[in-house]
Amino acid sequence: MQRYLVPKQGNPDACQQLFQHPFQKQVLFDGTCFLFQSPLDQKWHKWPGITGCIEKKFFFDYRAPTGHELASHKTSSTKDEGDRIHRQIHHVYTCIPREECQCTKRVHLSRLSSRTKSAMKFIKDFDVEPNATEYTIISPASHTGTRLDMIGKRFSGQSNQLSVIVSWKTGYAIDYDKNPLHQKMHGGLEEYESTPQHHNQLQSIIEYQMLKQDYGIQFDEYIIVYLDKDVKYRVEYLKDSALFRDKDGIFQYYCT
Ligand SMILES: [Zn+2]
Repeated sequence: MQRYLVPKQGNPDACQQLFQHPFQKQVLFDGTCFLFQSPLDQKWHKWPGITGCIEKKFFFDYRAPTGHELASHKTSSTKDEGDRIHRQIHHVYTCIPREECQCTKRVHLSRLSSRTKSAMKFIKDFDVEPNATEYTIISPASHTGTRLDMIGKRFSGQSNQLSVIVSWKTGYAIDYDKNPLHQKMHGGLEEYESTPQHHNQLQSIIEYQMLKQDYGIQFDEYIIVYLDKDVKYRVEYLKDSALFRDKDGIFQYYCT
């Protein structure tokens, strides 16, 4: 397993900085939109999530491969399964430790999805101490909001401890790194093909930059975890992404 070099001057307290940030005093997710009372003007704002906005800016003309269209009747069930896995992870790592469950659908611990178990294995293997799941953040610079799948620490209590953001990917497309039509992305990313892998990395970059530029908080690591069945997973470090090199430019364009 390839491990990313741990930075010597990290920021292991990023989560605490985030929890105490003034933006987090009045921020809500209503299931569709993000509601935010800004400490800057005291006004309530209602903003959309980042996914549609990223698509509109960077890959509005993306066409999923034909094979996926043929299997389109499976799409809704794939999304349901993704929601279920996110819900189960939230329940296991937030509801249970806090002894407080507000899940709208019941989570049966005896019936955890095999992909949820893959996530639990990743958390153990990578020595992650979760501090929050499904955690809402907003971005006054872009007028959008998002929910971080998991934030926490790695190697907690050790000299090399660091802060981490984890994003779960549950829909396992076979050609997730290919675009059969060789379509390119837009907004300064024209040298990259429009693939699900790049779309996922882009979403991670926007989330990372929201924290850095809107909040002034820099996390040490962002890890994208592709969850497979049978307690298997595959990891991508955002820092290894070619897209990551121009992350300031990407966020700037996203905010325009
Ligand atoms: Zn719960």
